[in-house]
Amino acid sequence: MSTKEYVEGFMAQLEQKNPGEKEFHQAVREVLESVAPYIMDYPALLDAKIMERMVEPERVIMFRVPWVDDRGEVQINRGFRVQMNSAIGPYKGGIRFHSSVTLSVMKFLAFEQTFKNALTTLPMGGGKGGSDFSPRGKSDAEVMRFCQSFMTELQKHIGQDRDVPAGDIGVGGREIGFMFGQYKRLRDEWTGTLTGKGLTWGGSLLRPEATGYGACYFAQQMLATRGKSFEGATVCISGSGNVAQYAAQKAMRLGAKVVTLSDSNGFVYDPDGLDEEKLNYVLYLKNGLRGRIKEYADKYPTARYFENERPWSIKCDIAMPCATQNELDAEDAKKLLANGCYCVTEGANMPTTPEAIALFQAAKILYSPGKASNAGGVATSGLEMTQNSIRQSWTKEEVDEHLHRIMSDIHDACLKYGTEEDGYINYVKGANIAGFIKVANAMLEQGICY
Ligand code: NDP
Repeated sequence: MSTKEYVEGFMAQLEQKNPGEKEFHQAVREVLESVAPYIMDYPALLDAKIMERMVEPERVIMFRVPWVDDRGEVQINRGFRVQMNSAIGPYKGGIRFHSSVTLSVMKFLAFEQTFKNALTTLPMGGGKGGSDFSPRGKSDAEVMRFCQSFMTELQKHIGQDRDVPAGDIGVGGREIGFMFGQYKRLRDEWTGTLTGKGLTWGGSLLRPEATGYGACYFAQQMLATRGKSFEGATVCISGSGNVAQYAAQKAMRLGAKVVTLSDSNGFVYDPDGLDEEKLNYVLYLKNGLRGRIKEYADKYPTARYFENERPWSIKCDIAMPCATQNELDAEDAKKLLANGCYCVTEGANMPTTPEAIALFQAAKILYSPGKASNAGGVATSGLEMTQNSIRQSWTKEEVDEHLHRIMSDIHDACLKYGTEEDGYINYVKGANIAGFIKVANAMLEQGICY
């Protein structure tokens, strides 16, 4: 059987067994195409059906989340927790609250998370959860009631040694606070069962910054392989949430000019670039006022707002998609390449479509998948778990040092498994194989338990 036949046969079965789950199919295919040659070289992996087991979640919890809105009307949302793989540690992964959440989205994220967590070198399995509830436009009281209802069910399935959720799209400090409060109330225990907590109640310094900062540290390493850096580079960033905000801050502090930010309604282009004052306004706008990125252009007249467009038509050296899945397609990739972009570092999970990835790789530009370059967030969540367990808080410098080392180790792993014969570093292949080997070996050694 050729590698191609193995991949296509596997995918046909997966698609038949999981109909309509297109995001999950996409994520599995990307990993499978990288690891299939490796699997076929090791009959033990084929015999133990490691890949077949990896695509089947250990457990999926799906539940009703009823709550009452401010008008007194009963609302019903759907909650999920996908406990994908516990071979190397307790399930770990964020919670997403967004209207686009489906079982397919949860499974793709949990699958990706398994390999990402393995790459961090920390003992964390893979999981993901969320709901089709959107906090946008809801009052604080509505968000609290929803979070309490969500946690009333979820608390039965999580714990500091079992499954440790964190934030993701639509889940920031406010939502983690409401969920942690309800968890504590129902379980009558204070443990580090959620990460991304407030600094006065067990949170880690630098956790809010970690995903964006980590992505920039990773990009620094990628750029260094070609004798380049952020200094003087023009950077396009999508999104304006947690990851985008701190990717922008670190890129700026490393000497780059950040010219775009976006949300699901459009993007702003500021040819003068962001500075600390403008970024502080964005933080206030998005985290305090919960406003729209359009308002940036109202405040800073040098900037222009493009309704219903994505930022990839703007000329840049480095692109950092930091919003959501499949937000950068082949047409966008062509525009970026035509404009001379030489580095694409993902802050979001699976933001680049397979066709766009193929174009970047064919053009031999630097391209890193989120599971490598956005792993700084979950890594720092892992550091938060350690601090909670030893009842200590590390300084910002200590956490930053760990974050730097972890991102550098992930980059090394990508080099080890992803460097091709002509010297091109295929970060997709490198990240997938490195993450896969660690999880696969743990599963082999533990026998047929899951
Ligand atoms: P936030 O909710 O803080 O921000 C999300 C941003 O993406 C917002 O600007 C949002 O705009 C935008 N967005 C959401 N959906 C869409 C869409 N369909 N089209 C265009 N823009 C959209 O989330 P995070 O910053 O935490 O997460 C961003 C990405 O990073 C996600 O892919 C997440 O999985 C990934 N990630 C996050 C980590 C973390 O630590 N937070 C860790 C690793 C990965 P709007 O306000 O209009 O919804």
